[in-house]
Amino acid sequence: MCGVFATIGTKENAGETVLEGLKKLEYRGYDSWGIATRVATSSPTTMKGTGKISEVRTSFPNGTTSIGHTRWATHGGVTKKNAHPHTQGCVTLVHNGIADNFEQLKKALKNEYSFVSDTDSEVLAALIDHSLKKNKYKNVVSAIRTATKQIEGRFALVMMIEGVDGIWAIRKGSPLIIGKGKHTNYIASDIPAFLQHTRTVNYLDDGELAKLTSTSVEIYSLINGKKVAKRNIKVEWNEEQATKDGWPHFMLKEIIEQKETILRTLEHSSTSIQKFVHTMNKRKGAYMIGSGTAHKAAMVGEYLFAKVADRKINVVQSEEMSYFERFIKSGTAIVAISQSGETADALEVLEYGVKHKAKILSITNTPSSSIARMSHHHLALNTGIEKAIASTKAMTAQMALLLLCAYTDGPGISYGRTLLRETGANINDMLNPRYSKHIEKIAGKIHKHENLFIIGRNSLYPIALEAAIKIQEVSYIHAQGFAAGELKHGPIALIEKGTVCIVLGSDKETISNAIELQSRGATILGIAPENNDVFTHWIRVPDCSEAQPIATVIPIQLLAYYLAIKRGLDPDMPRNLAKSVTVK
Ligand code: GLU
Repeated sequence: MCGVFATIGTKENAGETVLEGLKKLEYRGYDSWGIATRVATSSPTTMKGTGKISEVRTSFPNGTTSIGHTRWATHGGVTKKNAHPHTQGCVTLVHNGIADNFEQLKKALKNEYSFVSDTDSEVLAALIDHSLKKNKYKNVVSAIRTATKQIEGRFALVMMIEGVDGIWAIRKGSPLIIGKGKHTNYIASDIPAFLQHTRTVNYLDDGELAKLTSTSVEIYSLINGKKVAKRNIKVEWNEEQATKDGWPHFMLKEIIEQKETILRTLEHSSTSIQKFVHTMNKRKGAYMIGSGTAHKAAMVGEYLFAKVADRKINVVQSEEMSYFERFIKSGTAIVAISQSGETADALEVLEYGVKHKAKILSITNTPSSSIARMSHHHLALNTGIEKAIASTKAMTAQMALLLLCAYTDGPGISYGRTLLRETGANINDMLNPRYSKHIEKIAGKIHKHENLFIIGRNSLYPIALEAAIKIQEVSYIHAQGFAAGELKHGPIALIEKGTVCIVLGSDKETISNAIELQSRGATILGIAPENNDVFTHWIRVPDCSEAQPIATVIPIQLLAYYLAIKRGLDPDMPRNLAKSVTVK
């Protein structure tokens, strides 16, 4: 979940380059940071600190090579000593992921090394140094291979070795991408880190080791030690998409961008969507998996397939799928929904699927992501980089693509396309400054509440769950979503005078549930196409028939954003969270 970035070149400003690049990766983890810099093969100087890297204004000693890290702690508290890079012997490394067996490794190494941090990462530095020592620092590839075989878990490591040229990196489950420049090369956990320097990339695959110098990139298989040839790929993203472009926060910028991004899903050809849907063979069954917001998008997909295509899809949280894995057989489709395409839990399910000859399908925002690359068919969200931790434009694009898939499986894709075009136009009209102001005003009235409840039924039930996630993650208000009909079975006991309840929809049944809440003293905020007497506050959404979940989630995103602002919080960087969850 952390951000890793390293560069090697001929100029002596490598430390500054890494600092700037890490600032662009801060969305991946931001509890602490560290950068090590060196000239040629000398021993590095390491600087570390706690807090956000965006606030770091330091200068670095001259260096042609530098490796850096923004941490999202898994092992050991958020302290300076636990911040990466970690050095043991001649090895200085940064680590993304978890070494599951680090305690056992630490025990075996503790007589030879003294450890200063509580992290699993420092143990890996010692393990690699130990392996290098054994072959007298002669054969680095072989030493790293030997060490890697002993590490259990999913991880990416980037390191430099005193006395040895280059930056060395291994990928086993966590993303690493190489950027190739002129007399300078880069390696990072995500492209924005080096986008201002180069757009030519090599994707490191699992089980690969890379060696970067200022003029060369060599890749080896960790399995047999042989060299691997890689294709240079040009990335389409531009720098502009990765900046706030005048907006106060990425979250707000990305909410407003939905005016266009939802419609970009229409750029997929009908043939490509048909192929995708036909792979979801009816007889062999289909599982749709996702985590957090992507899981709620998958749930919307489940309702859409049921309504429009008369088909029941099994939707399971990626984290829980291992308990159902035995139902995956040859030909069963697993559809992974993920913004980053790097979610560790989803990757594990897909690896199981590959072993059992399942059909792997995916919808992600990154066509070159690990999930996309292991899929038989992949549909890209085409929203551009999503930087705010809270997913907004990726989720609406996920729902839009699932809607096109459901129509393809049902009455025909052209109906889906027409509906999506109309929905896009309605959302474009809805998202105007007056609309945002109205929602900001409502946020101003309710931001002091510590509990919020949200109800919805049918395909708005997953949106009630998503509303709770959005509000929790950016405003830290305790929010809970329920199926409207579920209220009487328990949650209604929580309602007292003045409790704020958000009601999604103005259909008869939902309004009855709203009246039940009001009768117990609740203040009702309705988000619906029509106003109703039961609503104390009302946010209008256009009537978009089957695409209603797409339109309804947008005012909720705005509400969550303004709740965070009114509570004095930074909605782009909620505490304890990171953008792509690459650890289990
Ligand atoms: N497990 C390592 C730590 O806790 C790395 C975590 C990360 O991916 O940021 O320091």
